[in-house]
Amino acid sequence: MEGLTFLQDAQKTVLAAAQPLGIEKVGLLDALGRVLAEDIIAPRDNPPWDNSAMDGFAVRWEDIKQEHAITKPVELKIIEEVQAGKVATKTVGPGQAIRIMTGAAVPKGVDTVVKVEETEATGDTVRIFKAVERGANIRPQGEDVKKGDCIIAKETQIRPAEAGMLAILGKSFVFVHQRPRVAILSTGDELADLDERFDEDKIINSNSYGIAAAVQEAGGIPILLGIARDQPASLMEKIKQGLTADILVLSGGVSMGDYDFTKAVFKDLGAEMHFWKLAIRPGQPLAFGKILGKLAFGLPGNPVSSMVTFEQLVRPAMLKMGGHRGYGRPVVRAVFQEKFSKRPDRRHFLRGILSRENDVLAVRTTGDQGSGILTSMVKANCLIDVPEEVERLNPGDTVNVQVLSEQLWDR
Ligand code: AMP
Ligand code: MG
Repeated sequence: MEGLTFLQDAQKTVLAAAQPLGIEKVGLLDALGRVLAEDIIAPRDNPPWDNSAMDGFAVRWEDIKQEHAITKPVELKIIEEVQAGKVATKTVGPGQAIRIMTGAAVPKGVDTVVKVEETEATGDTVRIFKAVERGANIRPQGEDVKKGDCIIAKETQIRPAEAGMLAILGKSFVFVHQRPRVAILSTGDELADLDERFDEDKIINSNSYGIAAAVQEAGGIPILLGIARDQPASLMEKIKQGLTADILVLSGGVSMGDYDFTKAVFKDLGAEMHFWKLAIRPGQPLAFGKILGKLAFGLPGNPVSSMVTFEQLVRPAMLKMGGHRGYGRPVVRAVFQEKFSKRPDRRHFLRGILSRENDVLAVRTTGDQGSGILTSMVKANCLIDVPEEVERLNPGDTVNVQVLSEQLWDR
């Protein structure tokens, strides 16, 4: 269709324009969710020495290897006790054992640990009831991490597991990609800001908050520029403020109405525009370009449209800028449970509820799909992706579903 850009092409254009941001050094706990910009090399082995995996007795395997351990247990002399954090002073010789706690370094002379449950101690004598294998219950030095190995590669996102590993490696600070700063501007004379006193004929600016939350969820820093009125001068002033950020996101004012000035103002600012209209629903009017090197998105004003288009275009750009390797939500195949029809032109994103029915992923819509019905997003845990050419879906058809929420099954 003339003037309409396919989403797939639009996404390529946006991703080509977005580049990973610079790096910064952050404290370990501030690194959660961020993407490493350095390889993490182990400065020492972990565990740093052979240590006991159990509470029990550190022994020489030669002494306990016999058969019939249950009826004829070996008796060893307990010569010392070693707790975690302590090092035994004595060396275990023939016929001797050291009482050892989990995590304590394995004493000299020892090659095996017998669990306390398989022993019986009386005074300074211990009886061993099981001939365990040589090396049993010993965690060898370096079994987890070897000095000099790259343990966490550059471009890895930090999760709790990586945070724990960074601590093992003594890294209290790491280099990560910067978080994209996203300036958010709502436009419209009909808007009043949250907590502002307003007349009955106004509506509350909800887009700024929905978008700001989406920015935070994607690991970015939202900068709320407030509301621009439907006048070129107001729009111009606010947009200029937003150009200190990495990304500028406008909502509203991108349609062809008499008061939709975004297009004119973008042009006045010398924007290099890539597209104005997308072949998707919701969200057909959608402007994207670069203004003074910054990515600028003009999202449609309808609350659902702004959120859905944010998902498809702004979020991937943000993830790329934040250094991530993948830019999309997880996509799963699910069995559609309703009838749906559309013209074979635009790609539709239906707000959906994904659930597990008899071990199969099933999906239904949230009901009315109007672009002003934000409850459709509130109820949704996914977006059902219906390709451009598809005309109808029937119950039992398989569809692609973008998973928005980890809470899949409880809605
Ligand atoms: P527009 O794209 O400017 O024509 O806006 C389309 C519709 O979206 C308007 O009629 C408003 O009802 C709604 N809208 C626009 N901006 C916002 C906003 N910031 N918050 C909530 N609704 C909005
Ligand atoms: Mg408007």
